[in-house]
Amino acid sequence: MNSTQVLNAIGSCLARAMERGLGKNGLVFPVACQETEDDDCRNSCRNLEQIFAQMNETYRFAEALANGELKANVSRSNIFAMPLKALQASLRYLTWQTNQVADGDLSQHVDFLGEFSLSFNRMIESLREKDSLEQRLKTITDVLGEGVYLVDPEGHLIFANPEAERLLGYGFQEMAGELVLHAIYKQYADGTFFTPEGTQLVTAVQIGQSYDNDDCVFACKSGRLMPVSLACRPVITGGRLEGTVIAFHDITEQKRHQRSLQTINALLEKQASTDALTGIYNRLKFSKLLALEISRARRYHSSMAIIMFDIDKFKDINDTYGHQAGDSVLIDMARVINANIRATDIFARWGGEEFMVIATGCTLEQGMQLAEILRIRVAEKIFSVPRAVTASFGVSAFRAGDNEISLTNRADHALYQAKENGRNRVEAEDAAS
Ligand code: GH3
Ligand code: MG
Ligand code: MG
Repeated sequence: MNSTQVLNAIGSCLARAMERGLGKNGLVFPVACQETEDDDCRNSCRNLEQIFAQMNETYRFAEALANGELKANVSRSNIFAMPLKALQASLRYLTWQTNQVADGDLSQHVDFLGEFSLSFNRMIESLREKDSLEQRLKTITDVLGEGVYLVDPEGHLIFANPEAERLLGYGFQEMAGELVLHAIYKQYADGTFFTPEGTQLVTAVQIGQSYDNDDCVFACKSGRLMPVSLACRPVITGGRLEGTVIAFHDITEQKRHQRSLQTINALLEKQASTDALTGIYNRLKFSKLLALEISRARRYHSSMAIIMFDIDKFKDINDTYGHQAGDSVLIDMARVINANIRATDIFARWGGEEFMVIATGCTLEQGMQLAEILRIRVAEKIFSVPRAVTASFGVSAFRAGDNEISLTNRADHALYQAKENGRNRVEAEDAAS
């Protein structure tokens, strides 16, 4: 066979091979040269057979790689598959690198995959930025003297800082993913239970609304009810509600101070308005209440009478039985009057042994009747001194145009008349004055 004939024979083999070989299973090239008995031709065909076998293997290898089978094997001697093997090695290394990143190793860098390397490295860079931001936030929340919870919109716990763990006694791990508010937010300060659903706090978490409450109670793991002040802020990323940050702190001390301050204030208020000896209102408080009652009478055109009274010959009692005996007469006087006026009436020590009663809703006549009853009760009363104690009364009633001074002056004048007219008696204001 000459070389032309050999080439023709090979060409024919190739044509047949190509016809049959490119099927859906890839390149199949079973070149079994039966065209000729010629040795050269057969040798050439055998070589071709080997080449096509390698190409065939390369095709299958490429196909496996394309299907993501990164562990696919190919013969070492296959020279066509070499670049693919290099690519396989790169992809396997990249897989390893990606796993490292997933495990938190952000030192990975890719420089062998062209444009993909740029994207990968950019992704690492932004992860590093995010990580550093997270680290900074973690450091902040670690040192913060404020408990911080992050919950998803359903209320499941996503994050808790050390202070939140310390305050409530629940470790983050034991509460992670739980409906944490159901555990800590369910009781009022007096211990009675409520359902967290329907509360403003839970609604704020569900709809992603800011919410502040300075007077809340959280139940600690120990069962202790801890008064807290809290602030909720929604976390919205890309327009989506991610969850809510709930920051809170223990206000037990603050509450204690508040309570003692309230007690002190109430005490001061009482001291400022009470007569130390008799325990009834003092003159200062009386003046304020009188102004109030006058404006009420003015506005509603209602009646109101005032009764001013003074113990008769009190100086004698002091001189005869001593100042202390005089004091107990004053105390008993306050008791007997208190026992005979209405709860709505106002009773005060005007000064020394002088007292005032505001008979709310009373006309002059009704005020006179009350004064007369009081006079009798005093005269009947057995005091701690061995003598009858009496008092003289002056009564005035509110008139349009009255103020505290005019009303008091008329009662004072009536009292003066009662003294002038012989004591232990009641006198009404002068109708003409
Ligand atoms: P009159 O019938 O005219 O009112 O005579 P009186 O003696 O009651 O009046 P006077 O104003 O002369 O005396 C009032 C006395 O009341 C003098 C004062 O020492 C005494 N007094 C005032 N405040 C107190 C007090 O808090 N305790 C005692 N024990 N005595 C007081
Ligand atoms: Mg007197
Ligand atoms: Mg007097």
